[in-house]
Amino acid sequence: MAKFVFVTGGVVSSLGKGIFASSLGLLLKGRGIKVFNMKFDPYLNVDPGTMSPYQHGEVYVTADGAETDLDLGHYERWIVNDLTKECSITSGKIYLSVLEKERRGDYLGGTVQVIPHITNEIKTRMLATANVSGADVVIVEIGGTVGDIEGLPYLEAIRQMRQELGYENTMFFHNTLVPYLRVSEESKTKPTQHSTKELLGLGIQPDAIVLRSEVSLSTDAKNKISLFCNVQKGGVFEALDQPVVYDLPFALHEQGLDDYVIRHLQLNADPELHIEYWEKWVESVKGAKESVRIALVGKYVELKDAYLSVKSAMTHAGFAMGHKIQIDWIKSNDVTKENADQYFADVDGILVPGGFGERGTDGKKVAIAYAREHKIPFLGICLGMQLALIEFAENVIGLKDANTTEFDPRTPFPIIDLLHDQYVGIKMGGTLRLGNYQCDIAPDTKAAELYGTTPVFERHRHRYEFNNAFREQFEENGIVFSGVNPQRNLCEIMELKDHPFFIGCQFHPEFTSRPLAPNPLFKGFISAAIDYKNGK
Ligand code: GLN
Repeated sequence: MAKFVFVTGGVVSSLGKGIFASSLGLLLKGRGIKVFNMKFDPYLNVDPGTMSPYQHGEVYVTADGAETDLDLGHYERWIVNDLTKECSITSGKIYLSVLEKERRGDYLGGTVQVIPHITNEIKTRMLATANVSGADVVIVEIGGTVGDIEGLPYLEAIRQMRQELGYENTMFFHNTLVPYLRVSEESKTKPTQHSTKELLGLGIQPDAIVLRSEVSLSTDAKNKISLFCNVQKGGVFEALDQPVVYDLPFALHEQGLDDYVIRHLQLNADPELHIEYWEKWVESVKGAKESVRIALVGKYVELKDAYLSVKSAMTHAGFAMGHKIQIDWIKSNDVTKENADQYFADVDGILVPGGFGERGTDGKKVAIAYAREHKIPFLGICLGMQLALIEFAENVIGLKDANTTEFDPRTPFPIIDLLHDQYVGIKMGGTLRLGNYQCDIAPDTKAAELYGTTPVFERHRHRYEFNNAFREQFEENGIVFSGVNPQRNLCEIMELKDHPFFIGCQFHPEFTSRPLAPNPLFKGFISAAIDYKNGK
């Protein structure tokens, strides 16, 4: 049976609980323990799929097609590759299933209440997922901040988990912020004490506290927290802001984090930590001296988290080639034909990520045309690919007013369209083409050179597709459809002949990119950008 580590947060949101949970997972894995992750979010959306990226950052997609919280991206990049639908649970999902059961009459005339029905549903999901995972330890992150009304059912559920599974099978980590007052040069522990009291009031005594801080904490401060929060001295950890975030696992290991957990949970672990692969990789990250400049042209660039996986994938591909990535975050709305030079004359690559809705797409098409004409390496992802084809249709093939029916249902040239069986009764949530689909790579193409294998499986999140009625016209004019989904004959990858690197993909290669194994399309793109820079 799996044991559980519960990670809560206090004082402020966006503390880096996800990075902490990932670091802990990495360390336990390095001690030979099989780890799995879950995230519970207190909001009422059934999944983040219908939420604006401004609200919640990027929507991460798993191989089995779940639209999930972006923390799953951290977990998959740092620890486990194959998280599932069941790993990202929201209150919306919990309530939906309880209410469906109520309507079916499953509760046999009982009054349906938050306690026990909602809390039982939470526990059942934790236990079932843990069971299927076959993991030794499941790290469960509870989203939000202790003290929020909507988080209460989760805290009650994990309190009961301790009660039912026992001390040695459950562990509570509370993450807090220790603010630093620069003028008086003091770290303040009071918010941590208050937040821990709040947790205690709900019946949860944390076994360990993780203190996020911008300065190193004195032993005094840590002892104070240990004393007033009722936590062993060895259970107070500091998570200092790291210049290189991938160093956090080492910093935590030095403080004895993995030993502390292994002792508490009485785990059968390797006496030594084996994360040499990570250590070597972090060295290469720090060794990256050169940099390459990429323009990311998107609608939501004010919020960098909206493109978290794209940014990570580029960064990781850069490190693989000894380069840092300098990203120019360009708001697509601001770009026009007239000012394009100002944005793109000095960049080494242009990336247009996925998106929904028409706003900002003119600017994206200007960026794409610029990349095409100036032979600047270009990667278009999902909407980025669709717009690349539309731009090509208009400006090269000469199909005036070509468009996607997403933006203009009456366009004379529906280059991008819904498939016919999709027209009927579309709802907004959960109706996209989601998750892994097969892509056959055509021989003698750039895609074939990059992937070196076929077929490949990549993750999707979109509703519209390239319209094959136009395929020949594109091919006659220099577009190669180098990746196709064989089951439904859908365009998955397009590339432009006579261009050093101009690739669009209907799927999201950023979701399968890993620190030590960047996705081939990102590697190809960054490598082309480096060549471009060196050839300038
Ligand atoms: N809006 C487009 C579609 O639904 C693209 C989606 C995306 O970029 N993720 O097909």
